[in-house]
Amino acid sequence: MRLLLVEDDVMIGESVLDALRGEGYAVDWVRDGAVADSALRTEQYDLVLLDLGLPKMDGIAVLKALRTRRETTPVLIATARDAVSARIAGLDAGADDYVLKPYDLDELSARIRALLRRAAGRAEPVFSYGRISLNPATHEALLDGEPVALSQREWAVLEALIARPGMILSRAQLEEKLYSWKDEISSNAVEVYVHSLRKKLGPDLIRNIRGMGYMIAKEPAPASPSRDGGGDGSHTPEADSVDDGGDGGDGGDGGGDGGGV
Ligand code: CA
Repeated sequence: MRLLLVEDDVMIGESVLDALRGEGYAVDWVRDGAVADSALRTEQYDLVLLDLGLPKMDGIAVLKALRTRRETTPVLIATARDAVSARIAGLDAGADDYVLKPYDLDELSARIRALLRRAAGRAEPVFSYGRISLNPATHEALLDGEPVALSQREWAVLEALIARPGMILSRAQLEEKLYSWKDEISSNAVEVYVHSLRKKLGPDLIRNIRGMGYMIAKEPAPASPSRDGGGDGSHTPEADSVDDGGDGGDGGDGGGDGGGV
């Protein structure tokens, strides 16, 4: 998930930036309203954390401009505890929620998770998909109830795909969710993460849609027989995207059996 942090106070901005990066978000930090406005016109963010008192263009103006463009990006405004009227103005200008400054970083993280969940049309806090469950609050991933260790970026790729089963995300769209402006992007990074996710979670989870990108099927494959019970050696039916080769190539595995999508 990629967030825009708009905060003019350097000390506060640094601590929030650290906290959000620690949660695995890709974060761009801008320090005045004009830069925030232009970032929002050119980049796609999953959420904006917007201080209201800003140089050059105040937060309410940034927010109004965003909503005038009919952008639905969730916006969390930050105001001082006693600034009730600013809070009301922000909510009425199109903010989705607010946090109080000074920030309580745990509360901030929880409100961000709640807004991201709502933006994805979900009510339940944990992603469940077939044999996999992902808990954004704890960053715990389970396969058949057993913990699976994922790196932050593996997690980010999986979360982006599992949030919208059936939707194809291009490599560029996935990269946007993984990297902020400052990060170097290696050209095959997404393929590398997909490859390791397949190794950890099963070869047929993430499909490679030739020439378009990646997706997770709308419905999980039917549960396979329990691992110690069945032993019939059968493969799950839709393993059209098996990719053991590590070549990571864009369309290396398409198979062409005309299966799914
Ligand atoms: Ca400020």
